[in-house]
Amino acid sequence: MSEWREEHDGVITTRACAWSPPGCHPVSCGIVVTVKDGKLVKVEGDPEHPITQGRLCPRCLDLKEIEYNKDRVLHPLKRDPKDRGKDKWVQTTWDEALDLIEEHVNKIKQEYGPESIMVLQGTGREADSYAFSFGYSVLGTPNALFSMSGYSCYGPRTAVADYVLGAGYPELDYAAYFPERYNDPRYEVPKYIIIWGKNPLYSSGDGFFGHAIIDLMKLGSKLITVDPRVTWLAAHSEYFLQLRPGTDAIVALAMLNVIVNEDLVDHDFVDKWCYGYKALAERVQEYPPSLAETVSGVPAETIIGAARAFGSNHPCSVAWGLALDEAKNGTQAGAAVMDLIALTGNFDVPGGVTLATPSPFMSEWQANALEALGPDLWNKRAVDPEWDGFRWTFASAHPDSILRYAERGKPYPIKMCWFFGSNPVASTAFAEPDRWLNVLLKMDFNVDQDIVMTPTAMACCDLFLPLKTTIEHQGVAFPHFGTNTHLLGAMEDSGVEIGEDCKSDLEICIWAGKRLNPEAWPWDTPAEFLTDALKPLGYTYEDLQKNVVIQQEFHYKKYELGLLRPDGEQGFNTATGKIELKSTIYPNFGEDGLPYYEEPPMSPYSTPELYKKYPLILTTGARNIAMFHSEHRQMPKLREINPDPIMEINPETAKKYGVEDGNWVAIENPYGRCVEKVKVSQGILPGVVHAQHGWWYPEQKGEAPNLYGVWKSNINTLIPNEHISKMGYGANFKSTLCKITKVDSLDA
Ligand code: SF4
Repeated sequence: MSEWREEHDGVITTRACAWSPPGCHPVSCGIVVTVKDGKLVKVEGDPEHPITQGRLCPRCLDLKEIEYNKDRVLHPLKRDPKDRGKDKWVQTTWDEALDLIEEHVNKIKQEYGPESIMVLQGTGREADSYAFSFGYSVLGTPNALFSMSGYSCYGPRTAVADYVLGAGYPELDYAAYFPERYNDPRYEVPKYIIIWGKNPLYSSGDGFFGHAIIDLMKLGSKLITVDPRVTWLAAHSEYFLQLRPGTDAIVALAMLNVIVNEDLVDHDFVDKWCYGYKALAERVQEYPPSLAETVSGVPAETIIGAARAFGSNHPCSVAWGLALDEAKNGTQAGAAVMDLIALTGNFDVPGGVTLATPSPFMSEWQANALEALGPDLWNKRAVDPEWDGFRWTFASAHPDSILRYAERGKPYPIKMCWFFGSNPVASTAFAEPDRWLNVLLKMDFNVDQDIVMTPTAMACCDLFLPLKTTIEHQGVAFPHFGTNTHLLGAMEDSGVEIGEDCKSDLEICIWAGKRLNPEAWPWDTPAEFLTDALKPLGYTYEDLQKNVVIQQEFHYKKYELGLLRPDGEQGFNTATGKIELKSTIYPNFGEDGLPYYEEPPMSPYSTPELYKKYPLILTTGARNIAMFHSEHRQMPKLREINPDPIMEINPETAKKYGVEDGNWVAIENPYGRCVEKVKVSQGILPGVVHAQHGWWYPEQKGEAPNLYGVWKSNINTLIPNEHISKMGYGANFKSTLCKITKVDSLDA
């Protein structure tokens, strides 16, 4: 194993793990960074990293273009609130920035109460590790959250895993825990993998290294892909279930129907470890493949074939993604997919779907922060009573509730926002971003921390704190957002000299923590903090630094070993001690305990009158390889890969609307309008369009009202902040309605 750092003739080479910023999920990819005289020479993949083995996507390979990008902010900036929207930023010092924060935080807390401050985290960035506890222990507010309507990113999946399994979000077993990986004698290659609503080769979403699918294909795994678009993986699948967006639940229920009726059930597993099989078996009779064909458009014989392949081979696995979350019916779809895994006995077996046990990394710090906040403040969390299901199971404020609180000033006003590296006006997160911006503009004080000026910061922030990039600071990258954590990786300061005035997210937490709540923040450096946070694992930050990556201990069949329950008994940490195929909790919140299908709230069938006016199904949010949501737009090589916002449309539909490749089109519905560029593709169903999200134009004028052109191609203006499920999870980002009209240009 090579040293983590080597230095020869003024050239420093550092082996470390990448995370953010710029953004990425915590895949913890291995990088080798070469620096000469303080200048970044190159970033390469680390062949010694056990998971990524030298492979990197273009976003890390192109890091040089963000290091020295002209748009990077290298000093703290302040602006008079009356100048919001204007480029009247003034350079300030960190001390003055802290004075401003202290002054405003104390004033707002005194006048309105600490709950009037909100902390908004972004998508998957390192800052997310600290944002909530920072809110609790530094700002003293219970209102920390991710701002996507219905908490539709990852929330439904993690919630449903909690309800059904009593465990964290489960993941495809790709031998990530084992140093010898696929050669470990404990491991078995899955016969079939279902890729459900996910494009992991582009996204490496949720910390899952997408190219592991290619590894497994080489080792013999066959694929079943469920997606409205033909992805590379779909094109290499044995079964491709190309469904109408938003109909995932009925496809999963029809697959269950086949597995039950053809008796492809692992009865030993189900009898011993599952609750509610009989009720589920009855429920799925309502969803024969023929009905699923009518609703979803997937031929019944394809559903039957896929179900048979999945049910009669062992082990099989599932990699499921955001498309299931981003729907009102999302928790039901998620439950049905988990039931497929349970009925076929694929939970926590080699080559199946691994179950999570929480990582102890930072857990003590997080628990202390919550405890210090106290129950009275915790109970003031912004969660409307209609979403008690969310309140009692998810440790966060509810995004749609806090928007209502801020708009109405009731039951209490929201007066300050701290953006933890999130760019909500442009990103995937905010449905109806204009509504959000209206309330943000009414705040007394807004703080943002990021590497570049964003439309959100330009529009409404008063203080901008400049961040270090992933190769400029120390940290810990841990995949799967801390639950199904298969490894921890060291992020490192590689010696790139960019200026003294940038800080990391963790440095900002420590720095502000020391001023606002010094007792809770005894650490002077990130390494000290991280060493403390790693203590339960038995090693220090220095140990991690030297090893670069430390894989976690792992056991299959944890339910047999008593590792899933706090009492150490066998079984699952649910009310029945079993996997709840029929939930005993859902009915308490007015929800059916068994999975069911519900039409998307705006669809040809649920709103036929609206469909006459808006006759295309709009889906959005698929990732592209060059960009992470609203980031990377200012990096020339990446922009060359994806220069414009793309709307994909089938040739037949394109012909009907008289549009061709490269034309600009206005996409409209009753909620909003935006303009994107046409890409005609056989890869999308007739009558469906997919529009890219996260677009803004850093090359354009930043001042309001233009805000770097953020309103021009903002697909989220067409997505409503309503249509949330009874439990409070899921909103319909993946399936709504629209019409398109050919226009002359982006500015039309
Ligand atoms: S997946 Fe993320 S960490 Fe890995 S190479 Fe791409 S940008 Fe870097």
